[in-house]
Amino acid sequence: MKKNNYKQWELKKRLTLVIFAAVFSVLILSSTLFIIANYFFSNKNFEENAFDITRSVASRIEAAIVFDDAVTIKETFDQLLLRTDIRQVNVYLDDRYLYVSKGETNPPIYFNEAELCHANSLFSKVLSICHSVTVEGKIIAHTYLVFTRDKLFKRQYTQIYILIVSIMISLLLSLIFASRVSDTLTSPLHKLAVLADKVAKEKRFNLRGKVYGTQEVRLLTESFNQMLDEIETKDDELLKYTQNLEQAVEERTNSLNHALEQATQANAVKSAFLANMSHELRTPLHGILSFARFGIKNYTTAPPDKLLRYFDRINTSGERLHVLLNDLLDLSKLEAGQMELDKQTTSLREIAINCVAEQDALLLEKKLTLFWDTEKCDTNASFDRSRIAQVIANLLSNAIKFTEEGKSIHISFALTHYQNQAAIKMSIQDQGIGIHEEELALVFDQFVQSSKTKTDAGGTGLGLAICKEIIALHNGKIWAESVVGGGTKFSFLLPV
Ligand code: ATP
Ligand code: MG
Repeated sequence: MKKNNYKQWELKKRLTLVIFAAVFSVLILSSTLFIIANYFFSNKNFEENAFDITRSVASRIEAAIVFDDAVTIKETFDQLLLRTDIRQVNVYLDDRYLYVSKGETNPPIYFNEAELCHANSLFSKVLSICHSVTVEGKIIAHTYLVFTRDKLFKRQYTQIYILIVSIMISLLLSLIFASRVSDTLTSPLHKLAVLADKVAKEKRFNLRGKVYGTQEVRLLTESFNQMLDEIETKDDELLKYTQNLEQAVEERTNSLNHALEQATQANAVKSAFLANMSHELRTPLHGILSFARFGIKNYTTAPPDKLLRYFDRINTSGERLHVLLNDLLDLSKLEAGQMELDKQTTSLREIAINCVAEQDALLLEKKLTLFWDTEKCDTNASFDRSRIAQVIANLLSNAIKFTEEGKSIHISFALTHYQNQAAIKMSIQDQGIGIHEEELALVFDQFVQSSKTKTDAGGTGLGLAICKEIIALHNGKIWAESVVGGGTKFSFLLPV
């Protein structure tokens, strides 16, 4: 800022000096010319006047000389000597010489031309004029008058003094004028410079300069403002671009993080799946192998009923392995989207009745009572019979599996809407051990068992995962909810 101020002052000083020098030169030149002209013309006037006086004196004394009138000559001389600008009067007759002077101790008397000329120079204090008095063409006398320029010089000196004083005042005024003019000229420029400095240092591109001053400065300010407009627009664009870029980077980072999370999760799921699989496969396989080994080892000595038990265990383990492999195949097919549905319009109730009939022995075994809903609605819909039967069978077997003896299971149907479409809802409600609220959704994941049943060596935990995939393939929905007073209610929706 200091530097800028200095520069501004430099400019202002220079401008003031230039204006001042110009005004000063004009003043001095005009004053000098005035003094010279004034001196010249007033001197000329003085000389003309002196010549007139000399001539008139000559004509007045002409008659007096002819008539030898000494009184008139004296009167004329006295009158002349009363004048302050006349210092000496001389009259030469042929033989006489009349001399009249005012108290001059050594009055100048010039007798030759050279002396006279020198005394009459412009700068001489005196002006001597000699004039002949002629009567009928004959010179009878000469008049000789000496004029003093004292008064003229005094007047001229006074004029010069006044001029000097007025020049001094004019100088002062021109200095003030020059300063004001340069201030008016440089002030907008200075403000513009300060603004530019502020914009450059503080990066405040929203600032604008006030358009005023001379045309050039106004143009400069307008151009500067226009430049700032463009910079501001570009700056805004840059800011937006940076923000967008930051946002894009953030989004990309988030999606990468999400992908990484998903990959980690998938990896964990894969590990868990493999662990579960190896366990689920090994257990029945181990059973088959160990009972087969027992049989081979003891087939000669072992009683037939023991051998039968071995075969039975081998058969059970084989069945279990078979079911597991079927389930795994189903699930992988469903997940790969390779499961093809054979949809037919069928009654859902009918399918449910068949499923119940298949598991009747289990119901009887556990002395469970099955209730059907009393209000019978139309349960016809288009779906794959065997797949939906698989869903109902798993839900029913779960209900039987996790419900104590002597309790009941309730099956119901309802007509409803799902995703703006007519749908059938089927529910299987038991009075079993129930599922914790926070696990109601989790039990639909592969190999997941509720914390209430984990200790029991139940199924593999694939049934509900398969149900979920089958129902999703039918564009339906399946969910579980806890029943007040104990038990769980599994429901699914099938669009009609
Ligand atoms: P799978 O069906 O594969 O032979 P599973 O029955 O254990 O084995 P899912 O049908 O998927 O597997 O059920 C998962 C878990 O959900 C069960 O292990 C059990 O913990 C819980 N569950 C399912 N149905 C019920 C129910 N009606 N009452 C209480 N818990 C249930
Ligand atoms: Mg099950």
